[in-house]
Amino acid sequence: MDDHLSFAPLQDGDLSVVPTRYWHALDDGRIQCDACPRFCRLREGQRGLCFVRARQGDQVVLTSYGRSSGFCIDPIEKKPLNHFLPGSPILSFGTAGCNLACRFCQNWDMSKSREMDTLMDRASPELLARAAARLGCRSVAFTYNDPTVFLEYAVDTAQACHELGIRAVAVTAGYICAEPRRDLYRYIDAANVDLKAFTEAFYRKVCGGELQAVLETLEYLHAETQVWLEITTLLIPGENDSDREIDALSSWVVEHLGPDVPLHFTAFHPDWKMLDHPPTPPSTLARARRIALANGARYVYTGNVRDREGGTTLCAGCGEPVVMRDGYVLDRYNLSDDGRCGDCGTRLPGVFDGPPGSWGARRQPVLLGHPAVR
Ligand code: SF4
Repeated sequence: MDDHLSFAPLQDGDLSVVPTRYWHALDDGRIQCDACPRFCRLREGQRGLCFVRARQGDQVVLTSYGRSSGFCIDPIEKKPLNHFLPGSPILSFGTAGCNLACRFCQNWDMSKSREMDTLMDRASPELLARAAARLGCRSVAFTYNDPTVFLEYAVDTAQACHELGIRAVAVTAGYICAEPRRDLYRYIDAANVDLKAFTEAFYRKVCGGELQAVLETLEYLHAETQVWLEITTLLIPGENDSDREIDALSSWVVEHLGPDVPLHFTAFHPDWKMLDHPPTPPSTLARARRIALANGARYVYTGNVRDREGGTTLCAGCGEPVVMRDGYVLDRYNLSDDGRCGDCGTRLPGVFDGPPGSWGARRQPVLLGHPAVR
């Protein structure tokens, strides 16, 4: 295995096109992309379902290296990550394309983009890392669309960030094959993985994917990496919000990943091809939280709603609130710089190094080409 992966742009031609290493030739002349379990089989000139990986000659290339759909500074709680550098600002960006086809996609303008011209900002990994440092961000997030499809750009950016002491965060559906997964996550410090439901039928019918592959990624991240892991499930009325399914999902998490992996149940709003479902009522999120807590999960949060109880972290030692949140704003914080309860000293699982940030709920768009950022 290489010590240091690098995916330099091809020297001739478009700088956003880079070679990839996850494919093999088939006997019938097609080339199969092995980046994700969709295994697209491509003839010359064809793109995969994700649209950004394509066959060019005798290889599969990534066509969106260094191109972004825009940059924003977000609160890290918005990713959501509640146990990773709390209160800190995170430079967030995505590219275009996605390897799932979720009918409820909440970022479809980017993930479903077929128009590379919608990718506004160009940014090398080094420029991105320097911008994050200059803007006071403690980490960079690959988000808005899934880093699985722009893995080569994400890996190079994560390494450039580490050179400057900036952490790298992946927000992902976890639908990725074993080799690219290993190559990506050795450079990632924290991940929020969408566990979209707990039935194969939902994954097949609503997302065009497979649950089992996502569960394998969750187990891999937990057991074989140092990546700090949190999980998000968007609850859609009538689709994945039954007591039975939430019970099965949270039981699996506690049994396979342990009680300390934070779970976020978040509210759906009608979007993309799922306009016929109502928004998730807050009572559904509270119910899901109760079920997961009863199954032994220690840190269960609600999201996309105002819910003081669902935004509170209780100490596993003494039961006192150690962090309380009003939306994305921390308004009670009783942890030491290394994440210990101020009352009883019990360590909260997660990544804590220093006092909490004070970024608050702001969402600040950033133009990387601006002189103040470069
Ligand atoms: S990464 Fe894209 S091209 Fe490759 S298998 Fe998945 S959807 Fe197909």
